[in-house]
Amino acid sequence: MSPGSTDTLPDGPGPYQPDTTSAAAQRLQPSILLLDDDQFMLDVLSGLLRSMDYEVAGTSASAEGALALLLEKPHAVDVVVCDLNMPGVDGIEFLQRLGKTPFRGSVILLSGEGLRIMHTVQKLLGNSGPLILGALEKPAGRVDLRALLDCWRPRVTATPPQSNISIDSDEIHIANREQQWLVHYQPKVDLRTGELIGMEALVRWNHPQHGLLYPETFITVAEEFGGMEALTYWVVRAAMEQLGKWQESGFQIQMAVNVSMENLRAPEFAGRISSLVDQFRVAPQDLTFEITESRLMGTASVPLENLVRLRMKRFGLSIDDFGTGHSSLVQLRDVPFTELKIDRDFVHGARHNQIIRPILEGSIGIAKRMRMRSVAEGAETEDDWHLLREIGCDLAQGWFIGLPMAPESVPEWIDQWGTRRSRLVGQ
Ligand code: C2E
Ligand code: MG
Ligand code: MG
Repeated sequence: MSPGSTDTLPDGPGPYQPDTTSAAAQRLQPSILLLDDDQFMLDVLSGLLRSMDYEVAGTSASAEGALALLLEKPHAVDVVVCDLNMPGVDGIEFLQRLGKTPFRGSVILLSGEGLRIMHTVQKLLGNSGPLILGALEKPAGRVDLRALLDCWRPRVTATPPQSNISIDSDEIHIANREQQWLVHYQPKVDLRTGELIGMEALVRWNHPQHGLLYPETFITVAEEFGGMEALTYWVVRAAMEQLGKWQESGFQIQMAVNVSMENLRAPEFAGRISSLVDQFRVAPQDLTFEITESRLMGTASVPLENLVRLRMKRFGLSIDDFGTGHSSLVQLRDVPFTELKIDRDFVHGARHNQIIRPILEGSIGIAKRMRMRSVAEGAETEDDWHLLREIGCDLAQGWFIGLPMAPESVPEWIDQWGTRRSRLVGQ
């Protein structure tokens, strides 16, 4: 099998191996530690959790107490349910300090401070703190608690994060010359019918020393050192060729390719792309370009010219990661996008999150009124899937549906999807 024939979960920092030896991996239900300065709260909550058949490993009325306990037995606890507003060491400092211990479990915030404050705390901790499953307002009911605790799963141990791998410009140029790239494809499906609509091409690097690398390790380096042009055309060609093969074998699907601002700054981009569709005998209507970084679009005319020419040739244009970075309302106003791709930050877990859900629903509403196709990325669970259906999103993409995979793995995915699909669309 070719290197990395399917991406591994979780995506991003790279290959993860399930840690099947630890005690946590043997458990089906998480073991829980409660931290709250209010003893009455601790009693009520432990009673509630035990009545729901969860194991309460301990309670602590102070952050110091909880830290001591977790330092002593970091593997005895899977989930800490943690208050924020506490005298002395508060919840924020507790979580910052917890992030520096060997504790590998997760955290649920439970506070009277309101969801917006808890959301900001989650952002504040970012990658430095422990994994936060979610936030609940006091008093928390059974249903909400169970919904979050159900998200817990035994943590896997990561191979060293790829953010530690540093890539220099020479390596990028060698990779371009020796074509060390490969493309994984991730399905986009129709939420109403479950039909496979298209694939997104996602580049990977089969690095001679580091193995399979993901874009976050090398795209910015390639952009900085002039490596994007060759990389993009390599991906575009591979994707067009693959699309041609799939269409020939009877799959009437579309293809999406990511392009960066670097590409759009070259005046000949749209023209070169048009010659390539002729060469590979695919229809422009079946190709969508996903544009993420649009920072300079407002002032620079070349990118806009490229985009408008591509659109006049009937290629699709997608505003990627909508709602983050520079993928903003201004871009929506000025670029003839055909697809609005909602960033995964606003998708996964939206049903129970009163902050991201309105943003998700609002984005879908904007897409509808502007006659654009809405696509939600980062559909990770069945709950995400059903919510997206309920609120009328057009297409979904995410781990719940299928991981990015090598083209050889696609037929097998199509078979599996065929068996899951009818149940998921209620037919
Ligand atoms: P993107 O275009 O927004 O692609 C979606 C990213 O989300 C992919 O990461 C994909 O593997 C990941 N993903 C898919 N489903 C889920 C899910 O359910 N949950 C979560 N958390 N993540 C999910 P990947 O492949 O690491 O790519 C990262 C970014 O790199 C892409 O984001 C895109 O902006 C860029 N990129 C990838 N390939 C290319 C390329 O050929 N050219 C350019 N210019 N950029 C590329
Ligand atoms: Mg994309
Ligand atoms: Mg995206």
